[in-house]
Amino acid sequence: MNSESSLIPDQRRCRERMVREHLLARGVDDPRVVAAMSTVRRHLFVDEALQGQAYGPNALPIGCGQTISQPYVVGMMTMYLQVQSGHRVLEIGTGSAYQAAVLAEMGADVFSVERIRPLYRNAWRRLQALGYHRVRLKLDDGTMGWPEEAPFDRILVTAGGPEIPVPLLSQLTDQGVMLVPVGIGKRQQRLVRLRKDEGKVFKQELGNVSFVDLVGSHGW
Ligand code: SAH
Repeated sequence: MNSESSLIPDQRRCRERMVREHLLARGVDDPRVVAAMSTVRRHLFVDEALQGQAYGPNALPIGCGQTISQPYVVGMMTMYLQVQSGHRVLEIGTGSAYQAAVLAEMGADVFSVERIRPLYRNAWRRLQALGYHRVRLKLDDGTMGWPEEAPFDRILVTAGGPEIPVPLLSQLTDQGVMLVPVGIGKRQQRLVRLRKDEGKVFKQELGNVSFVDLVGSHGW
């Protein structure tokens, strides 16, 4: 055991249990998603006081009134996104950066936007410390997307707004897929999956989810 791993408990057993109980048992069985979530040390994405709950079924507070999504939701969203290695993926709502790390583990080039400065700063520090040097972060209103880096093969919105942010759709490649929770009330959304195909947009509703609010120009 090297000095780093003896200082930072790996919690591998907790992760294996999380995968069994909150992913596989609930239908999140894509081997690439499972492998990524078995690898990313989720307990290092929450405050020390909450580390004991990091592999449990719930969303957890990360400060500034925001949350890290529960493992099942991260797994389900990642599975629906159908990410391939080398895809350029835009995430709106960096939060703890856990979702961004999972996407990076799957070989995606991740671009993630967060609007709250302390969360953005913590996310940046955490990703550097854990060696996710290729994830790019931006402090901004993510409902405007990231036009300088567009287009993206995949777009993932991890907060719920009243509508599908129009700028995001124009930053999606042809054959691109976007997942966005669209509000039926605050903190209650329908998860919508959009696919672009030769200029046409196909829309599919995937069920109810409960994300924190998407705010900003095309948010609440
Ligand atoms: N994906 C995160 C969880 C996201 S919580 C994780 O893995 O931990 C939702 C995040 O979206 C919050 O941090 C919130 O500040 C952010 N958010 C809300 N509206 C936003 C906007 N317009 N642009 C960027 N981030 C936004």
